[in-house]
Amino acid sequence: MQTEFSLIINGNKVAGDRGTFDVINPATEEVVAACPYASVEQLNAAVDAAEEAFKTWQYSSDEERKQILHRIADRIEANAGALAEVIVKEQGKPMFLAQAEVGGAVAWTRYTADLEIPVEVLEDSENKRIELHRKPLGVVGSITPWNWPLMIAVWHIMPALRTGNTVVCKPSGLTPLNTIMLAEIINAEVPAGVMNILTGEAGIGSAITGHEKIRKIVFTGSTPTGQAIMRNAASNLKRLTLELGGNDAGIILPDADIDAIAEGIFQTAFLNMGQTCAALKRLYVHDSQYDQVCEKLVAIANAQVVGDGMAEGTTFGPVQNKDQFELVKELVEDAKANGAQVLCGGEPKSGRGFFFPPTIVANATDDMRIVAEEQFGPVLPVIRYSDVEEAVVLANNCEVGLGGSVWSSDIEAAQKVAQRLECGTAWINGHAEVLPHAPFGGCKMSGFGVEFGKEGLLEYTVPQTLNINK
Ligand code: NAD
Repeated sequence: MQTEFSLIINGNKVAGDRGTFDVINPATEEVVAACPYASVEQLNAAVDAAEEAFKTWQYSSDEERKQILHRIADRIEANAGALAEVIVKEQGKPMFLAQAEVGGAVAWTRYTADLEIPVEVLEDSENKRIELHRKPLGVVGSITPWNWPLMIAVWHIMPALRTGNTVVCKPSGLTPLNTIMLAEIINAEVPAGVMNILTGEAGIGSAITGHEKIRKIVFTGSTPTGQAIMRNAASNLKRLTLELGGNDAGIILPDADIDAIAEGIFQTAFLNMGQTCAALKRLYVHDSQYDQVCEKLVAIANAQVVGDGMAEGTTFGPVQNKDQFELVKELVEDAKANGAQVLCGGEPKSGRGFFFPPTIVANATDDMRIVAEEQFGPVLPVIRYSDVEEAVVLANNCEVGLGGSVWSSDIEAAQKVAQRLECGTAWINGHAEVLPHAPFGGCKMSGFGVEFGKEGLLEYTVPQTLNINK
């Protein structure tokens, strides 16, 4: 495993002015590696370099940028094993999931490479031609969370580069190493200053969001941080894409075939140990099927092999960090104290590591914290309903709106319900699936703007109307 990690500023690998901080393996609580600790002065140097590089990079040809992104994808593929190992060690997910994350990073990079930046002809008459062009914005600041650190960095950085922007990125201090490796890979293919990376907390995030020379922030993380970013970004009217927290509801309609959907429900609720923004986080089940659903989910949960993601056979890793682990424990204890019934899991595993087995909480109600708050961990509350209308109201009775799902054998009936859910993506007989060609984003307090597809790409551009009098 790579053991030396540096910042990248203006194409150069440099040490952090503030020394280093330790990155902790959540499965062992041991140090994975020391990560450079950057200063705000180093951030300023990186932004200056990115601004300078933008002067020429913005005029690089479309074809050149496409080819560069494909070469980056080749390099990610060539380093897939090393990247997956670092992801397991710092993030905690099982190896198969880390490999899937690297695979996704390659696929998204290639897809983004091949996207076209459209020029629309709005009028072409005898005396006039009007064209709508899209120009890059300048320096883009990317701030990422700790749950899918490589994938989300790719989601931020690739469309920014594809459209001719330069990048300064700051990964979460909990999982920064894989993103440094990604930045090294990108830096090997782009001119100096186009790709910069700074690690360390100490005000770097807020310095990025307030920086006068940064034109856009793409942020994935919690809603309170998103709000702070929006306030800070106002000074120079930065463009914003905010992918924030969710508390996705899933509704099983009374006609659903439980045997057919149980595995899908479990996997999308517990994806990445539940630490997925658009995981299914509240499950609404009709009275008539309640016991059957709980029974099936418990059987699948009990079949999981909880352990270190590096160990052969592990299907379920630890919670990524101590704070999140403590929050999950607290929410389960609160549910128990308020009359919910823990059907499986419910207690941390003894020994080292932040292990909390998959936990199904029955008799949960909407006034319990485990339902009202985003648990972002390996716990699924199951809520009983007797009328579909009531389930829709409860699903929408929430400040956030990232995803939602309806599970049924009757697609038409499910679609009618799905379209009433207040969320950015509504799935039918699925949840949590993101695809490079399907725009993804939240409504309400889950943020605004989308990623992926043409719509996502164009968020990194500013329109310019060309009005030609012939
Ligand atoms: P977080 O908001 O605590 O941190 C995210 C990033 O923001 C980190 O890099 C952090 O260092 C940085 N940051 C913290 N304070 C900042 C500030 N004041 N200014 C600028 N940057 C700052 O979130 P997290 O705990 O890392 O991630 C979990 C949350 O992210 C959950 O709520 C989850 O739902 C959400 N999330 C959303 C999506 C999505 O696509 N909508 C995807 C993944 C995670």
